Amino acid sequence: MPNMDLPTQSHLKALRDLLEYRRGELRAEVQAAERERQALAEAAEAGVADRKDEAMKGQLSALSGQQEEREREELHQVEAALGRLDRGTYGDCEDCAEPIPLKRLLVQPAATRCAGCQTRLEGHPRS
Ligand SMILES: [Zn+2]
Repeated sequence: MPNMDLPTQSHLKALRDLLEYRRGELRAEVQAAERERQALAEAAEAGVADRKDEAMKGQLSALSGQQEEREREELHQVEAALGRLDRGTYGDCEDCAEPIPLKRLLVQPAATRCAGCQTRLEGHPRS
């Protein structure tokens, strides 16, 4: 009787599809953010914006910079998860090496830790 908590080959295929889809989305978003930043920089250089506009754009780009940062981080995690899929180490907890329950992977395909280790990590960020 197979352990129902462990992903089967077809689960892994579905998880790979999820990850690849997400990777495509994130790449598009990061590229769009880069283009936007470039356009803003060009507009500023060309002296298009007046002062009030510039202050607002500064705030906007700080905001989108944070979002871009999060997207880059997630993209990195998604790519790492795809790498683990390729190497056949996908789904093992980074900390305790126990398999991450399938339910958790389906919600968070790029998860690197089981819920227990993740909670411990977040509770004690330095340990
Ligand atoms: Zn763990």
